[in-house]
Amino acid sequence: MSSFAELNIFNQIIKLPEVKVKDYQFIDGFGLVLTLEKIDKKSACPRCGKKSERLHQNHEYLVRDLPHAEQDVFLRVNRRQLKCDRCKKPFSEEFDFIEKTRTYTKRLAQKIITEVVESDIKNVAERNGLSEREVETILKEQFSDLKLDKPIGLKKLGIDEIAWVKGHKNYCAVLVDLETRKPIDILEKRTQDGLKEKLRSIFNSNKSEVVSLLKLTHWLKKAATYFPDSCGTIIRWFAEIIPYFKNRTTQGAVEGINNKLKLIKRKGFGFRNFDNFRLRSLLSFHF
Ligand SMILES: [Zn+2]
Repeated sequence: MSSFAELNIFNQIIKLPEVKVKDYQFIDGFGLVLTLEKIDKKSACPRCGKKSERLHQNHEYLVRDLPHAEQDVFLRVNRRQLKCDRCKKPFSEEFDFIEKTRTYTKRLAQKIITEVVESDIKNVAERNGLSEREVETILKEQFSDLKLDKPIGLKKLGIDEIAWVKGHKNYCAVLVDLETRKPIDILEKRTQDGLKEKLRSIFNSNKSEVVSLLKLTHWLKKAATYFPDSCGTIIRWFAEIIPYFKNRTTQGAVEGINNKLKLIKRKGFGFRNFDNFRLRSLLSFHF
């Protein structure tokens, strides 16, 4: 059994006020495993808000945390299922420092994202004792948590294009929320087709709105061939693209974003693929 003084040192290291360290173990070739328990035994039912401490089931699992003094650190967490006395249904308790269903702490994800934005995936993986695949998984999961797929409240959408690998014919379209001045998505393209110019020329022509819409629809159909995965995205955002082309007063936001993307591109040689570039770019704006 570990002494109180030892456990207290670990409590001070992990600095997670919600829990205390119950036990620890150094495992060769693996790292330091800290067993945690929640200090407050009661949790509020997410349905009715009533607090409960009636145990329904234990659910222990390992969560990766920030490395400490060259050691990989894992937290053994028991996310208990408690039963609500009012609803008569079980629910899982939550921890402030872990996102539901994730196997790493929020602060580790934050660290990884910050480092990836400054460096590249390979280096970050090595520095944190993770595989490149694990880093990519963290980025992807964090990204999906952002729920950027047609964000609620998007009113004006801007669009621009950049080449994401210098000297290569790899182009992408950048979709920008002009109100928050953040990119919402970066779409891969096969050729430099001048998406922006095409769309603009459609809206700049003196044709009526109806004719413009017909032309745009026609164009989108053709675009499906070289935007294999993302034509749907543009169609989903159709309603927001239109006001942008009718009233282009916020071009500065789009240009500012493009300059930042160019910087990310220049610093991070070795994007293994477009997805990495996309994830890294979007995360750098949203975190
Ligand atoms: Zn309840």
